[in-house]
Amino acid sequence: MLNVSTDLVEKYNVPGPRYTSYPTAPEWIDSFGPANFKETLAESNNARPPRPLSLYMHLPFCESLCLFCGCNVVISKKHGVSHPYLEKLEWEIGQIASRLDGARPVVQFHWGGGTPTYMSPSQLEDLFLYTRQRFQFAPDAEIGIEVDPRVTTEEQVRTLRRLGFNRISMGVQDFNPLVQETVHRIQPYDVTKRLLDLCRSLGFDSINIDLIYGLPHQTPESFVESVDKVIGMSPDRVAMFSYAHVPWLKKQQGSFAGFIPQGMDKFRIFRSGIERFTAAGYLYIGMDHFARPNDELCLAQRDRTLQRNFQGYTTKAGADLFGMGVSAISGLARAYAQNFRDLDAYYGAVAQNTLPTMRGISLTGDDLVRRAVISKLLCHSVLHKREIEEEFNLGFDEYFPDELERLKPLAADGLVLLSPGSISVTSLGRIFIRNVAMVFDTYLRKPKEKPLFSKTL
Ligand code: SF4
Repeated sequence: MLNVSTDLVEKYNVPGPRYTSYPTAPEWIDSFGPANFKETLAESNNARPPRPLSLYMHLPFCESLCLFCGCNVVISKKHGVSHPYLEKLEWEIGQIASRLDGARPVVQFHWGGGTPTYMSPSQLEDLFLYTRQRFQFAPDAEIGIEVDPRVTTEEQVRTLRRLGFNRISMGVQDFNPLVQETVHRIQPYDVTKRLLDLCRSLGFDSINIDLIYGLPHQTPESFVESVDKVIGMSPDRVAMFSYAHVPWLKKQQGSFAGFIPQGMDKFRIFRSGIERFTAAGYLYIGMDHFARPNDELCLAQRDRTLQRNFQGYTTKAGADLFGMGVSAISGLARAYAQNFRDLDAYYGAVAQNTLPTMRGISLTGDDLVRRAVISKLLCHSVLHKREIEEEFNLGFDEYFPDELERLKPLAADGLVLLSPGSISVTSLGRIFIRNVAMVFDTYLRKPKEKPLFSKTL
């Protein structure tokens, strides 16, 4: 059993980023607009060898709001709202495609939301074919979608598979009836199991299930029951996310604030999940993700090619990510950009034939170094200083004297092992990996006016 003291949990369970990007989104600036993004996009075509493409499309609609949800969603039971959205999205897809070198292959494609299966089978097909006509997909491209088992039909899944989708990710979160009732997401086990069996029979290469720990009324015992049900379904991958309590951003979360497990209680739930999944043969990739030992994520972690982006861990190193749709984020070699989060603002930009870029950031040389350091810590657990020195032509210890000093208390607490040539994250440190990464985040040292991040555990 993973023994962690209450003191340690209290010490390290502090607000901190999840590091899907560096610099993190609160540091991006509003003055980075469509012109900057177009310039960055054009520059990305000049990289040699050419960088492959990862495409993300945000489909924001859901029929009802799950109260824990931190995504950018539009709630409506009137499915007609999707028609104008798809028109605008197609315009944006066309704009991005026309500006990118057509020879750059799409190696990764993902629809997220919201609930992408809010769309009808014919809408899904039209949108996918529209995209395929404008980009060149690699023969082995990962083509994935997030689905909500409560609203996903057999016809939709068959359509997706026929179109070439080979990865599917299902939201579950928790099977406990009281938890489900409290978060307004009633999802019987049978509904999920039926969908998973259908996906298996249709030959999807990879099936993922999402759980969340730290939801209201969860206990280690109740959570283990949900975990065991998931293990019984044998998904290829599992994401066990920490519930992010950010009521200053998501007001609806306040409704159950008195029932959420905190501190050591939340840690025990996390620990029960991690122990159960690893005992069942899954490997802990880190930062909420598990996979089977022969999964390519595990292989990529072993050969140090694993990377992290807005969709979690990925094996597609070196791809430029282009996000399309409301609130979607693009992550390129030297810049990040985000679209308007508000539907009206997104529609307004497109109506004026303008890319809907709301904010972004061009990375400085220092950002690039720190991003590489944080990425290696998050993805590989061991950072070889020489890799950073060779990539950026610097002396690691001379570049990071303060950070090495700040790591010493973490080493004393058993989170990292420091040696002359490397920084190794221990098993304990992998649980507090966000805290380890935070040591290298120079932006955290600026004073903040308001809370920005959920707690690290
Ligand atoms: S279905 Fe998914 S995206 Fe929609 S509200 Fe629930 S958790 Fe959020």
